[in-house]
Amino acid sequence: MKAIQVLKPGNAKCLVYATVPKPTVAAKSILVRNAFSGVNYIDTYIRTGLYPTKMPAILGREGSGIIEQVGRDVHGFNIGDRIAYLATENSYAEFCNVEPKSAVKLPQNVSLEVGAASLIQGLTAITLVRRSYQVKKGDTILVHAAAGGTGRLVVQLCKHLGATVIGTVSTEEKAAIATGLGADHIIYYTKEDVAEKVRGYTNGEMVHAVFDGVGKNTFQGSFDSLKRCGTLVSFGNASGKVPPIEINMLSKGNIVLLRPMLYSYIATPEEFSAANTELFDLISKKVLDINICKQFDLKDATLAHEFIEARKTTGKVLLKIAH
Ligand code: NDP
Repeated sequence: MKAIQVLKPGNAKCLVYATVPKPTVAAKSILVRNAFSGVNYIDTYIRTGLYPTKMPAILGREGSGIIEQVGRDVHGFNIGDRIAYLATENSYAEFCNVEPKSAVKLPQNVSLEVGAASLIQGLTAITLVRRSYQVKKGDTILVHAAAGGTGRLVVQLCKHLGATVIGTVSTEEKAAIATGLGADHIIYYTKEDVAEKVRGYTNGEMVHAVFDGVGKNTFQGSFDSLKRCGTLVSFGNASGKVPPIEINMLSKGNIVLLRPMLYSYIATPEEFSAANTELFDLISKKVLDINICKQFDLKDATLAHEFIEARKTTGKVLLKIAH
């Protein structure tokens, strides 16, 4: 079968459209004939070696498709089911093996495209606002990269929960998108001082929480934007890894600092199922708008990585897998 492999860490050009053995189904797994694979920022971290992995590796942590075979110890799934799934690292491929505990049958009204586009960013957004910091009516929340894939979902959820949202973006086009999603105020964080703008927008009150997936370039501004006892949720490294911090800095205002990963919030079948139920419910009620901003053919994964690293995303990037 065809798959996208990384042989050794590098820039997007190091991705190889390779012919590799088609996986065989294991007793406890499901073999999926992939239709779409979701492209996530984390794939770039694995490709560059920021998150070390054994190489050669097939990239890809989520996808959707049709079940081709079911392992003999698997219950609850059948050949032909339409599913979306989280994978350990192998969805940029025509076929992959998936653990049943990480798969979800797609509701009738959810297409394979939307299925592949929903899980990582959608579940991340839900767990950020429910568990990292429980967003409440009346809160003021700062959301970085507010027009990006995960950011735009966080904005929508914060508004749904009754918060005032200050969104950061790099361009006017992205500002219009974030405003259209409900952001109350915009900061152009590549040229404006984030904490000073937050001070102005909040009459000096500052924010209850910051959702920061940008990392290195925004960490200090996020910290300085918080009110007393505020929460800084640092959940990504789009601009690079946050350098080590001095723990005593948190005592200035009793700041809560989290560095969450989605997977630890959905580690049990109950947690995964509850988060998925909420996700697809919010999609069907149109609270969450899953915007697929660009699709590339599987063989063009390099272009997909260059696209997200050039910060062109205003929603989800997918790889389309033809058979
Ligand atoms: P996005 O589609 O949001 O793309 C990242 C955005 O970050 C860009 O569009 C850009 O928006 C902004 N950005 C700021 N600085 C840079 C930079 N130097 N280079 C590139 N982009 C930059 O990606 P995702 O939604 O896939 O991921 C967003 C973040 O969330 C990532 O850091 C990712 O690792 C993290 N994440 C974490 C998870 C977890 O479990 N902890 C799970 C899922 C995602 P702009 O142009 O407006 O600045």
